[in-house]
Amino acid sequence: MTRMLIIGPPGSGKGTQAERISERLGVVAISTGDIFRANVKGETPLGVEAKKYMDAGDFVPDSVTNKMVRDRLSDDDVEAGFLLDGYPRTTAQVDYLDEILAGADQKLDVVLQLTADDEELVTRLLGRAKETGRSDDNEGVIRHRLDLYHEQTEPVVAKYAERGILTQVDGIGRIDEVTERVMEAIKSAQAA
Ligand code: AMP
Repeated sequence: MTRMLIIGPPGSGKGTQAERISERLGVVAISTGDIFRANVKGETPLGVEAKKYMDAGDFVPDSVTNKMVRDRLSDDDVEAGFLLDGYPRTTAQVDYLDEILAGADQKLDVVLQLTADDEELVTRLLGRAKETGRSDDNEGVIRHRLDLYHEQTEPVVAKYAERGILTQVDGIGRIDEVTERVMEAIKSAQAA
């Protein structure tokens, strides 16, 4: 049973690594970005609301995001553990998640941060923009998303570091190599 978070700047490959970790640990990966994108595609009211923010590279407001996460974490498949990808991104979201977990008498085992240099990330994301046509992948929006990560999400990482559950992994390298580093880091963190 593992309950964990994966945190990383845009373009760090956290979604790809989250899927691999989820398979290997047998826990469900929950990506708030994926849930939002599915809603945008389905043109649901949640999707219409979220799209405005996502296209600008802004965070979707907590009033929308927190409730969505609370609902998802009440599903049965989460009982065997979970890997949250892309949440929490602000310290207010950390407080909200703390409350959800305390209410269920649960706690996080590991918080994994993927690290990468900003210029490397911009190059990667501009490449991805060409391949996938994601509407939040142009240079201005990419730089804005990186700024938000530094301003809002690094304090989240600092909070978990203070609690002694943070483990950091270099996200630069081949996908398989990074996965091996990640699995080693999770193993060491769980053994500690
Ligand atoms: P991601 O796929 O994790 O990069 O998320 C894509 C976009 O979804 C972000 O740029 C935000 O607009 C939105 N989003 C995802 N997770 C969150 C969150 N925890 N809080 C606010 N907005 C989010």
